[in-house]
Amino acid sequence: MSDPLVIAEHLRKVYRQGAREVVALRDVSFEAHPGELVAITGRSGSGKTTLLNQIGGLDRPDAGEVTVAGRRITGLPESELLHLRREVVGFVFQSFGLIPVLSAAENVGVPMRLTNTPSAERDKRVEELLTLVGLSAHANQRPYELSGGQRQRVAIARALANRPRLLIADEPTGQLDSQTGRQIMELIRTLVHTEGVTALVTTHDPALITLADRVLELHDGAFRTAQQIPAVQG
Ligand code: ADP
Ligand code: MG
Repeated sequence: MSDPLVIAEHLRKVYRQGAREVVALRDVSFEAHPGELVAITGRSGSGKTTLLNQIGGLDRPDAGEVTVAGRRITGLPESELLHLRREVVGFVFQSFGLIPVLSAAENVGVPMRLTNTPSAERDKRVEELLTLVGLSAHANQRPYELSGGQRQRVAIARALANRPRLLIADEPTGQLDSQTGRQIMELIRTLVHTEGVTALVTTHDPALITLADRVLELHDGAFRTAQQIPAVQG
């Protein structure tokens, strides 16, 4: 089997609010391989967003190590984390996060502007990505002229702009109806397999979990394993 793209080892994250401490991650370890779609599930407050933020370099754990694409990211200076977030990881959020005054095509082009991709190459990649997500006919529309599902397709295209090796999607279907949500999850699954990226996707929709290659369930900041799930008493 190929080397894992993501290795999380014994991650711990504690939030402090005054005298109160919330242990958001207790001791979380897992690996994800290239071309794998991993669903992370668990109730609201179980630590899903916290976990994705540690892996994507948006936040730093209190203990433990994260390795992405062979690079240990824990302890990297902010400038190198910025490089990771721009070039190695693509992010998709529940609320889409598109820039309202820009067209779909311009939104998809933003990450390539940040990395100074030449404009001809950028235009070509934007066109390719909009085709990939089925929106080539909507390139010039602004987000408010698109449906929720179409907005999330734009956001997915944007996340893939710089050919990231890792796609991190935090409840990408959270604001969509169930049918549209399923289409978005199917799109992510197709892209994972065609582009060879690794995807970590949080969701609490059981229907979407069936589309994942593997499912990890967080419970109070720790993965729940089969042995820990209490057996139903007969
Ligand atoms: P999920 O994404 O599964 O809903 P989160 O990772 O957002 O869970 O939150 C895990 C726990 O950490 C929750 O108890 C939440 O209230 C707490 N938490 C998350 N972010 C912060 C923060 N910035 N400050 C304090 N507590 C936080
Ligand atoms: Mg969350």
